Amino acid sequence: MSDDIKTLNEIKEIGKKMEDSISEYFDREGLEDPTKNFDWEYILIDKKKVRNAWCMPGGKIAVYTGILDATKNTNGLAAVMGHEIAHAVAKHSVERASRGTLLNVGTRIIDIASGGVLSDINRTTGQNTVGLLAQLGILNPFNRKQESEADYLGMIFSSLSGYDIRETVKIWERMKELNKGKEPPEFMSTHPSSDNRIRDLNEKMNEVILDYPPIKLT
Ligand SMILES: [Zn+2]
Repeated sequence: MSDDIKTLNEIKEIGKKMEDSISEYFDREGLEDPTKNFDWEYILIDKKKVRNAWCMPGGKIAVYTGILDATKNTNGLAAVMGHEIAHAVAKHSVERASRGTLLNVGTRIIDIASGGVLSDINRTTGQNTVGLLAQLGILNPFNRKQESEADYLGMIFSSLSGYDIRETVKIWERMKELNKGKEPPEFMSTHPSSDNRIRDLNEKMNEVILDYPPIKLT
């Protein structure tokens, strides 16, 4: 756990706004609130090398200090949290349950199945296999369609909560810069490559800003 209480409090504050806005939004639409059984909780993990965050089904959210280099500010942090909350709301982890088995069998079989691509990546990037596996199988276990859905829903949640979603694209640009030369080829990555991601986010951004303005909480 990080002792950066200021950032943790910021995370909790963003989280609270999102919790309330999401519930309020579904209420107003006359839809069942997908987060009604969530037991929200927020932690900040002190790990500079991990540029990530996740949200477990049920609303347990973890942010690694490594991603703060990319998020930079409150709107950036909100964008990342909105994205992770979106995975939980869309129940992506339920969809991926069958994929879990494949990812648990270990490096060798994945390496064989990928025709040695994993070893090649390790050689070029110097990233260790455990790190890469963690990235592919544990920390980013979603497929590209799910990632696009989470990007879109995440922007909606951020916008409803009153954050400036134009920062979303900037995060991916910073992420790309920070990962320079280290980005695995798109087909190996469970995240779409940053360029595609930036393009898709840009395409949807104005529509989200217009259709999902900040929600006024009663
Ligand atoms: Zn994601």
